[in-house]
Amino acid sequence: MPKSQPPASPVNAADHAADVAPAPWRLCEAEGWIFDLDNTLYPAAINLYSQIDAHMQAYIAAYLGLEPTEARVVQKRYFHEYGTSLCGLMECHGMDPAPFLARVHDIDLSVLDADPLLERALAALPGRKVVFTNASVAHAERVMARLGIGHHFDGVFDIVAAGYRPKPKPEGYAALVREHGIDPRRSVMVEDIARNLQPAAALGMTTVWVRSDSEIGRLGADDGYVDYVVDDLAAWLRGCAERRLD
Ligand SMILES: [Mg+2]
Repeated sequence: MPKSQPPASPVNAADHAADVAPAPWRLCEAEGWIFDLDNTLYPAAINLYSQIDAHMQAYIAAYLGLEPTEARVVQKRYFHEYGTSLCGLMECHGMDPAPFLARVHDIDLSVLDADPLLERALAALPGRKVVFTNASVAHAERVMARLGIGHHFDGVFDIVAAGYRPKPKPEGYAALVREHGIDPRRSVMVEDIARNLQPAAALGMTTVWVRSDSEIGRLGADDGYVDYVVDDLAAWLRGCAERRLD
């Protein structure tokens, strides 16, 4: 790829991209970078979610006194109706979120290796970096420690900070921007679930979708608010950073 070329192409000529997205070689001038955590900062194939999913099912079964198969139905129904299973349990059963978050994220991270390519890409990329996750700060910090990238981030904005209003509910994005002093029009959001980029685009952020094969990840991918589609995040970020040196 010639150096004058952008590191990736806009996914489409959507109105949002035409109106808002800067030329890709200027992304290195972004003031803020907002990264989702799970399946964004590490590959979805690592499948940490299978452990979290199993813990959730067991927790719900014990909490509500259900058989595992019944608990799974509740878990998935609440996920679809409330954005996360946790929010459904809080709304419908007044559940205390803290023990739930601690238990479901108490997972084996030995499958996750350090990612020196991502670490170097983040090191080369100017701008403040924040993780925005529907999980917890503790989980994010453990995952980032395994990846060896935690020192590049200024903070983690989690489901607690969002007032238990999960992505893609817009209230969490507004709170994130306020709390971290982020100028959305000079910031980039990176996510593997395309629909979580819609509120970011509505605030004026440039949006980057880490392409997902999952049904939930692809939802909204063609709806016109995705500016860039990325398969190899570390390589793409490195490309952004190198534009600065042109
Ligand atoms: Mg994710």
